[in-house]
This record gives sequence, C-alpha cells and structure tokens, in this order.
Amino acid sequence: MKNLLRQIPKVDEIIKHKRWAELELKYPKSTLKNSLRLCLDEIRKDILATRITTIPSIEDMLEKVESYSRLEISPNLKRVINATGIIIHTNLGRSLLADNAIEAIKNVALHYSNLEYDLESGTRGSRYNHCIKIIKRLTNAEDALVVNNNAAAVMLVLNTLAEGKEVIISRGELIEIGGSFRIPDVMKKSGAILKEVGTTNRTYIKDYENAISSLTGLFMKAHTSNYVIKGFVAQIKTEDLVAIGNKYNIPTYLDAGSGLMFPFLGSEATGEPCIRDEIKKGIDIISFSGDKLLGGTQAGIIIGKKTFIEQCKSNPLTRALRPDKFTLAGLESTLILYLDEKKAKESIPTLKMILEDDRTLKRRALVLAKRLKKHNLPIYVDVIPTYSEVGGGSFPDVKLPSYAFTIIPEDIPLGVFEEKLRQLNTPIIARIEKERLIFDVRTVLKKDEEDLIRGIIKASSPN
Ligand SMILES: *Cc1c(COP(=O)(O)O)cnc(C)c1O
Repeated sequence: MKNLLRQIPKVDEIIKHKRWAELELKYPKSTLKNSLRLCLDEIRKDILATRITTIPSIEDMLEKVESYSRLEISPNLKRVINATGIIIHTNLGRSLLADNAIEAIKNVALHYSNLEYDLESGTRGSRYNHCIKIIKRLTNAEDALVVNNNAAAVMLVLNTLAEGKEVIISRGELIEIGGSFRIPDVMKKSGAILKEVGTTNRTYIKDYENAISSLTGLFMKAHTSNYVIKGFVAQIKTEDLVAIGNKYNIPTYLDAGSGLMFPFLGSEATGEPCIRDEIKKGIDIISFSGDKLLGGTQAGIIIGKKTFIEQCKSNPLTRALRPDKFTLAGLESTLILYLDEKKAKESIPTLKMILEDDRTLKRRALVLAKRLKKHNLPIYVDVIPTYSEVGGGSFPDVKLPSYAFTIIPEDIPLGVFEEKLRQLNTPIIARIEKERLIFDVRTVLKKDEEDLIRGIIKASSPN
C-alpha cells in the first residue's frame, strides 16, 4: 500500500503533460488545480481502501480532471427536456416565453433602455409605467402595478390595505400554493389579521356580514388554484363580495392566481377566473401571476381602482418587490400578443401547448417511437394515449387527452434508466407509471426532439 502511495505521480509531473497545457486553454487554472487535487485525493482514498491495486495513467487522471473542471464551470441552472406532460411545471420553470418576449428581453439586456427615463420630458421616469397601458387595455382596469411575483402582490395588497386590520376570507379559501405560500402565513407577515369565516365546504354572504366590525379592513377571495372542493359546497360569488363591499364601504380583493386573459378550455365551467370578467363585476383589486396561464415572465400583476393602486405604489415595500427590466420587457411583449386572441394562442407557448390537439400529438409520438425503434436499442418502445395537465395550479381538475411514447428498458431497472436520463448533459424528465417510463410529447418542444432521441440513445447504452 505504501509502495502504491509512493507511486502516485507528483503534481509537477502531471502538469508537465502536454494535455495539461491544452486544458489550460479551456479552463481557469484554479479550477484545474482544484480538480487535480480532488482526483489525487480520490486515488489516495482508493488505495487506502484497497479499491485499486495500480495507479491510473496520467492520461486517465487528466481525463477525470477535465470532467471535474467541466462540471465546475457549467452553470447549475440549465435547460431540461420536459416530457412530463405538465405544461406550467412549477419545478421546471413554469411558462416558456414567446419569441417576441425573448426578443424584447434581449433588446434591453444588450442595450440601454428607458427603464426609468421619460422620453417625452427628458427627465426621470418610472419603471412602474411600462406595462400599464397594455394591462389597462386588456383588462379594462383603471390602473395597474407590476411587482416581482404574485406572492409579492398578495403581500403588498394586504399590507397596504389591511395592516393592523382584519381581512375577512372564507375558510374554504385558505389556500396553500407550493413553496410554502400559505394565505394565513402571508397574512400574518403582512401585518393584517386573518378573520376566517364559514366552513371548509360552505360559506355564505351572511358569514362575511356577521364578521364585520370596526377592525374590518378588507374582504378577500382567493382562487383555490390547485384543488377543488366537490359535493355539498357553497362559496360566494365575486358579485356578492362586491355587493357587500359596496354596502359596508369595505374594499374587495381577489387573488386570482393564474391570469387567464380570455376564456378557453371550458374555463367558465371549471371556475378559472377570467381577469377581464372579474374586473367587470366591480371588484376593487385583483392580483395574478405573470408566468402561469398568462404565459409571460415571473411577475405579480395588481389591477383595479386607481386609488388603491396608488396606495400600493407609495408603500415602501413596493421598492423591495419591484420587477427588473427583463421581467417588464418580457411581460409587456407577451401582453401585446393578447391584443389578437388568435395570435396569442399560436405564439404563447403555454397557450399553444394547452390547445394542441391530440391528433397532432399522436402523430408526433408515433414518429418519435419509430425513430427510437430504428436504433435497435435494448429498450421496448410503445405509444399510448395519456393525459397531460395544465399545472401551475390552474385547471386542477382538467385532464388534457394526449399521447406519449413509453419505454421499458430491457437490461437495467426502470429507476436506473430514469436516473440516467436525469443526469444527461441535457436532462430528460419523464414520469414513471405502471412499470414504464412515459414521455408525454405535449411538453416536448419540436426543437428538443433531436436532444431527446440522442439522450435516450445515450441512456440506453451500457455505461
Ligand atoms: C400561484 C398563486 C400565488 C403565488 O403566485 P406566484 O406567482 O407563484 O408568486 C398566489 N395565489 C394564488 C391563488 C396562486 O395560484
């Protein structure tokens, strides 16, 4: 063992190898040295644990140094192929952007912009002015404010309108969204006091009315985005909330969640609130996400009566929750697409994926399966009908008929194959169901198909 340890080449010797000079052209020196140290430590440990009986060649060591170095300089946040069939996948980056939104982001990234400059007067402007015109046009709201995300929007609205006051909300709407966003917790942090009324399944107008006191600051409704309560249920309608708000002169607020701009996919029946319709009902404030159903950048959009929006704007919290220029550029360009419904459906990826018909999906699944079979890989490939989900806490009860190709590996356990797919340079995320891997083609982009095939070939081959 001692003998082996002594045989490990010295660092000086290794870095004299001509391969090292090549590596120095590609990687920072500190990265290479760190990788080499890791590599030598590993060899020492392997010797001490008698896992190896010969010293690897310097070529092999440098091979490893390169792979460690490559890992160190590659970003941790990277693209993946989403074959889960969940469109607004909260873990995989939610909505993808339309081409013109990406173009707009690139434009403000590469150039200076009028982010906080008023081109008309030549003086300081406000970043809060940018998306307002188009939001007002699309929703008919009096005014609007964009913040970093909808969680921030909820926090800001509650803090602005109800700090130290009671917010009356139904027990059936005390929602938890993923990532530890819970209405009661957000309420507490905002400084508002939760006044829950009714029961989990039924809440009536009189429950709200009976809870009114001198402390009441706000009536709130939250869209139960990610679940449905079925059976013996009753929640009051937005119109009812508006009516009692007017009667008792208490502001009304709807946290709508997803940002549906026009009805589709039977949204009227499933209860997904359409923003424009909710505004028409006379509610004072609505907030919703920019990167869920809306299909834009991560943002929280607050719309409603001017006086309340003004109050939100002048809250010092707003400065801490402000959106960056990329958010604003991408959001504004996405919203502009909504001026033409047809164009929105064709060019906003989230909408396009939701509305893709299953005949097209079947054809794509069959073509991909056929291509895989041609390679004679040790996998069993099939095509099946399946269901996709909208995700992102929208349309929780809706299943979209879709098609998938499925794989059963012949030589390795399913779990191992799934892990290999996840660890590819461009990871492929699929779902395991009934002892096979399911690749729902609805969320696989056309431009991802080559990498998908290549990745599956790589994961199917031994090692
Ligand atoms: C998603 C959601 C939120 C949080 O929005 P983010 O954009 O994720 O911050 C808040 N309320 C409801 C009803 C939601 O669906």
